Amino acid sequence: MTVHLVNPSNVSFGTAVITPRWLYVLAGATPAALGEPHLVDETLERSDPTTFMPGDVVGIGIHTSNALRGYQVGRAARDRGAYVVFGGIHASLYPDEAHELGGAHSVVTGDGEDVWATVLEDCRGGAPAKVYDGGKVRGDRFVPARWDLLPRDRYMWASVQTVRGCPKHCSFCSVWRTDGRQPRTRSADAVVREVVELRRRGFRFIALADDNFYPVTLQDLERAKRRTDPQRFEELAAVREERFELMRGLARLPEDLVFFTQVKMEAAEDPEFLEAMRRARIVGALVGVESVAPEGLQAIRKDFNLVGEALAERLQRFRAHGLHVLGSFIFGLPTDRRETFEATLDLATRADLTFAQFVTLTPFPGTVDFARWEASLKGHEPHVQGVPVTRHWLIPDEHRPKLYSPHPTMSPQEIRRHTQDVWDRFYSIGQVWRRSRCVRSVRSRLAFVIISKLYRQMYANTGISTDSARVNRAARWARWLARPCRRLFAARPMPELQMPA
Ligand code: SF4
Repeated sequence: MTVHLVNPSNVSFGTAVITPRWLYVLAGATPAALGEPHLVDETLERSDPTTFMPGDVVGIGIHTSNALRGYQVGRAARDRGAYVVFGGIHASLYPDEAHELGGAHSVVTGDGEDVWATVLEDCRGGAPAKVYDGGKVRGDRFVPARWDLLPRDRYMWASVQTVRGCPKHCSFCSVWRTDGRQPRTRSADAVVREVVELRRRGFRFIALADDNFYPVTLQDLERAKRRTDPQRFEELAAVREERFELMRGLARLPEDLVFFTQVKMEAAEDPEFLEAMRRARIVGALVGVESVAPEGLQAIRKDFNLVGEALAERLQRFRAHGLHVLGSFIFGLPTDRRETFEATLDLATRADLTFAQFVTLTPFPGTVDFARWEASLKGHEPHVQGVPVTRHWLIPDEHRPKLYSPHPTMSPQEIRRHTQDVWDRFYSIGQVWRRSRCVRSVRSRLAFVIISKLYRQMYANTGISTDSARVNRAARWARWLARPCRRLFAARPMPELQMPA
């Protein structure tokens, strides 16, 4: 019996930006007695169904965007006589769907690492259960990834997780509902050990793939302090201290390491935290700005973000501490107007953002927005290709609408066109060259230009474009650009590197 783990994707680039961490973690949770698992990341190349044999187990991890492709892989594996097991956020939310459409024998809901060995044992015994509840695994039980199984020279960045869960409750995000609101942190030692292993293998760029690397804000601490019961304050203070301990550990690693993560904007108000990030060489972070208008932020329950000049200044503060920001913006909020696109582009330029992404509002299952939207359409959902739009991930890619909620003042085409225009202008060669001043040498500036262009090809043109010729062209470009790009990120392996004292 061979264990196959498949990360489904519709587009394969041959080279990928970030390692899909779950594949290597679940490989780590696979008992050695069952042999080496066979890992397939379809962002590199398609899986080959002829490799699935009767009695094998095929584990498929899905999120909403790749669920449909995951179901194709599942059905192909079942037809070949293999046991099919689904996991991941989407399968946790819709276990029945994986059974109905993906040929699943079993679905694992929640975290996979604790329950995976039982699932495999049951498959070997010929009696897998329909559903396994993996629950929320404690931080000290997160399984280290099997980086020894990585294919050579295919990824630009490795990924390490340090915390799961987020105490905030943004209405467009499912993290706080699926991963919980209590941050579950991993010990600094465990994280540092994994980073050392990756550096030994020649990775110097590492994404700290957390939902929120800054889970406790100064305001959270202030609020907890005012409570009569000190327990909450003590819990939050402990989580904060663990973050500092981790960053002290990272700071002791080789100086050529570079980290990237995700933080909330409130981190800009915490100079002590930003300084610790700088010392740990966390040089970049994705920051969810979402909207530049107060009404927009209120609409998505993210009114803890700032707007206008204060917003630009807050974002600039990250740069003052040496942190490059990838700002993330959402278009299509009911409060957006035509002027919003220009205002957002202007803000992104003034706020010294190094990169930016502009996404259109999509109600993702597991979020408050989705539940509200689904309820509002109940009984009269429009259908596309026979699929109700409230199951939009089941509509084939080429027919899938790019926007789902009617907007009070703009048509979906208008929103999509303006969004594309903002991408085009933010990533125009002139703007990219101007931003490339954030690095010093001409070689680094050229590398910055290539990476900016690649980012745009991979995420904008293949994501929001409705023009299939443009999507195909972008995928070809991305494939072509990705190879030389990867070399820019590679480093000489350091097999002799020791854990810091
Ligand atoms: S968007 Fe970020 S801050 Fe908001 S709930 Fe999700 S992870 Fe937390």
